[in-house]
Amino acid sequence: MSGNDFKPRRKCEGRLQVAIIGGGPAGLGLAIELANLPFVDWDLYEKKPMISETGGGISLQPTALRLLENNGAAEYITPTDIYRSSEGKLEQRRNGRTGELLMEESCQEGIPLKYQSCRMARSKLQTALLTSVNRAHIHVSKRLVDIQHTEDNRVRIFFEDGFSDEVDLLVAADGLRSIIREKAFPDHVPEFNGQSAYRTIVSKAEAAKIKELPFAQVFWEHISGAWVMTCPLGDDDFEVTARIRRTREGEDPKSWGRPFDLNELLKEYEDFCLPVRQILQLAAKGQTQEFDMFSSRRLDSVISHGCIAFIGDAAHPMLGNFGSGAAFALQDVYTLAKVLESSMQRSMALSDALIKFDSIRSPFYQRLYRVLNKFSEVKSVAQTEEGSIDERISRHVLRMSQAAETWMIYYRIDEEVAQALSETDVNAVHTRPISRVRQFLEALGVLRRRPC
Ligand SMILES: Cc1cc2nc3c(=O)[nH]c(=O)nc-3n(C[C@H](O)[C@H](O)[C@H](O)COP(=O)(O)OP(=O)(O)OC[C@H]3O[C@@H](n4cnc5c(N)ncnc54)[C@H](O)[C@@H]3O)c2cc1C
Repeated sequence: MSGNDFKPRRKCEGRLQVAIIGGGPAGLGLAIELANLPFVDWDLYEKKPMISETGGGISLQPTALRLLENNGAAEYITPTDIYRSSEGKLEQRRNGRTGELLMEESCQEGIPLKYQSCRMARSKLQTALLTSVNRAHIHVSKRLVDIQHTEDNRVRIFFEDGFSDEVDLLVAADGLRSIIREKAFPDHVPEFNGQSAYRTIVSKAEAAKIKELPFAQVFWEHISGAWVMTCPLGDDDFEVTARIRRTREGEDPKSWGRPFDLNELLKEYEDFCLPVRQILQLAAKGQTQEFDMFSSRRLDSVISHGCIAFIGDAAHPMLGNFGSGAAFALQDVYTLAKVLESSMQRSMALSDALIKFDSIRSPFYQRLYRVLNKFSEVKSVAQTEEGSIDERISRHVLRMSQAAETWMIYYRIDEEVAQALSETDVNAVHTRPISRVRQFLEALGVLRRRPC
């Protein structure tokens, strides 16, 4: 899985050589899909010494659950791994000071139970994805540090330990602060938005001892810039996430999963109601990780130089991701794999396939960013308005729910991709160079492959 003992591959005609950078949900999801494409040779490089997950829980919405079923990873998620509200409720919004229930979103009429939203520990999602991947192609302790384009439209990749390789397609699945995005789009720099999230998993049995702590996904709202989210997960896990805007003089905020002593923050939550203070005290005895929140404007395009594709957080550096970042990553993955498959069948050039990928995913992200802009407007109103704190919290929750949209939770990427590819069929050029047809037949095993 690791080491410096392998050599850069030469171009092999008829094969597509792919490097995936990053072993999060996006990278692992793509590894699963590419293993099904007979004309692809892929390797995944992860900077950490093992494929591991940071953070607490993760919501899986109907769109994510369908994709996990589609790629087979759902098989490795057992019913006890997840928390799902028995009444089909999605989440509660409560006044963090008084505990008053302000809003409760129900869901999912007409959605089969197996696709209804649920929440689970991120490590379990990661394990389910990893179990479905051929680990012989995963290389850990491999931090990508640079990329270079070659004259024949390939890309050279360089790692911290001196290893380098050359591939036809580089897939950036390296997360929110992607180095590949930085190299490909130097003007596009995510900025720290002043907020950090602190995520802890505590024992569900211990959390149950706290009176009046609802066993549901609850956002405890305030207008001070601090909030808390509590939610049961599967098995004995219970998640506590605190998010806060705090000044940290002299510190360069770039933490992503750094261990943190939550005791340092407890005084910031003194105005919150008793169950919130108690669950935070419980969390402060556990292991908390800190995430500094970075975001930036939308990428104009999720491809670059005809040989780089951006997926997951690398493609959309936005905050919070509507609790659906894993789903968006899996949608990118599904689209990229389908577009590559179809381009091989249609003898399209890789650069054209990537343009197709971009034409499907960029409008999706454009739509999401429009919703984010609405949220920003609502948040700026909350900062300036009059009234008691509790009235302002209530009005803020109401306005946010009015600005919210739910289409992204139910989004059917399979239908979107099928539609986009059928349009390609209509527009397809019918003459195909002989060599391309040969490559395609070789890939299917109809013709013997030429030795490379
Ligand atoms: C506080 C918080 C709460 C969230 N809640 C939810 C939720 O409820 N539901 C949800 O769906 N999403 C949620 N998200 C978003 C979700 O975590 C991300 O969208 C998702 O993890 C994206 O997956 P990814 O694979 O693109 O990136 P990541 O999970 O960040 O994975 C990137 C990988 O790339 C590796 N890497 C980075 N740089 C390099 C390099 N130079 N070389 C090699 N490897 C590299 C990293 O080590 C990492 O393993 C939340 C995020 C935060 C911060």
